[in-house]
Amino acid sequence: MADLKVGVLALQGGFEAHLDTLRRLGAEPREVRTPEDMEGLDALVIPGGESTTIGKLIASADLEPALRAHHEAGRPILGTCAGLIVCDAEHLGFIDAEAKRNAFGRQLQSFEADLEVAGIGDEPLRAVFIRAPWVERCGPEVEVLASCDGHPVAIREGSVLACAFHPELTDDPRFHAIFMAMTTSARERAGEEAAR
Ligand code: GLN
Repeated sequence: MADLKVGVLALQGGFEAHLDTLRRLGAEPREVRTPEDMEGLDALVIPGGESTTIGKLIASADLEPALRAHHEAGRPILGTCAGLIVCDAEHLGFIDAEAKRNAFGRQLQSFEADLEVAGIGDEPLRAVFIRAPWVERCGPEVEVLASCDGHPVAIREGSVLACAFHPELTDDPRFHAIFMAMTTSARERAGEEAAR
């Protein structure tokens, strides 16, 4: 589907590489810094960075009501690394899961791993982890798409997709493609509802 408008929260952290990946998949990405920037978006990415800082900047930019409205309208959200933490049950509560920050330990601040990810085919996905969280608890409606060392690192519940790694830092766009497929379906559903 043409011209899907995908916002990338650009308050702090690694938002630029997400813009590139989304463009490559044919979306129209837009940096989001204010509630006005959220208008007309089909989907939103909350990138990696520092979750405490991103949370504070969401509050000071008064973005929380617009983020909640986006979520409640069933428009997809992708949270990566710090973005997963920001979406979890102890923060914005967009997904019924709890992330454990910096979970892989100091000696493993950054590493790469080949992951089997449900829904992207047999070829493993090279995943870059940077002071990554893992998912410590997830609710019954949460689908685990990938795990690393026995801990969930990619999850989905309804319109929310989240991962502990940085899918924007490799050349492989397959994780973002899952998100774009969710965005296409959400927009088709919204179109059908409007036509009813
Ligand atoms: N360790 C960061 C946090 O807890 C997340 C790191 C990242 O986004 N790469 O917020």
